[in-house]
Amino acid sequence: MSLALVFLGPPGAGKGTQAKTCAERHRLFHVSTGDLFRQNLREETPVGLVARGFMDRGHLVPDEVVCAMVRGCLEAEETTEGFILDGFPRTISQAEALEEDLEQLERPLTSVVSFEIDDGMLMERLTGRLTCKGCSAPFHKTFNPPQEAGVCDDCGADLYTRDDDTEPAVAARLDEYHDKTAPLLGYYETRGLLRSVDAAQPVDGVSGALERALEDR
Ligand code: ADP
Ligand code: AMP
Repeated sequence: MSLALVFLGPPGAGKGTQAKTCAERHRLFHVSTGDLFRQNLREETPVGLVARGFMDRGHLVPDEVVCAMVRGCLEAEETTEGFILDGFPRTISQAEALEEDLEQLERPLTSVVSFEIDDGMLMERLTGRLTCKGCSAPFHKTFNPPQEAGVCDDCGADLYTRDDDTEPAVAARLDEYHDKTAPLLGYYETRGLLRSVDAAQPVDGVSGALERALEDR
């Protein structure tokens, strides 16, 4: 059976970093709702225009907007061999909509990986993050610097600091996480899907823990 994964965890836990390498290793389609929204913002689509105000303030975009966007992705050919949902679902109502969509597509989730880390580490990770303008790969000024300053190792495009990687926006995003997303841990635990990894270790340690978690199905 192909892998159908959700990566769950607070902003800065390392979901995007791990999703990129895990998708390459297992040939999965990586769906990052944050990246999709930023692409919509750049292209000034109607979805991008709705999302902008919420994202700038570190708030969640309304469920119906996100769910419609993800539904479109799941119906696409690329996801049939397996996928990683990174940053979705983020509310119980999104999780319920996802369950329904996947039931219709007859592709139930195989695991939900919880990236466990204390809030105290997240501000430094996020305010030091550098993101690629081309392929969205995340780097870090100290913890994962690019080989050449300001340039993506993978695609050569410029790196930038996201508008919502500022202290006030990070604080709001963490509040949103604890208020609306953390309840999903119980939701997936009850369904027997939850696997935890210690996300406070260096990147390679997290990758090893993730592989072990994926074997436990
Ligand atoms: P998320 O997708 O969960 O928001 P990212 O994968 O973008 O998180 O990681 C946030 C920041 O932390 C990035 O700058 C990334 O380079 C860095 N990072 C990711 N994993 C680790 C790790 N295990 N140790 C230290 N820094 C990390
Ligand atoms: P991320 O790149 O995952 O950190 O997401 C950046 C921002 O995009 C979030 O702070 C939200 O404003 C928005 N966003 C991404 N995914 C979702 C989601 N599943 N539900 C609501 N808003 C989202």
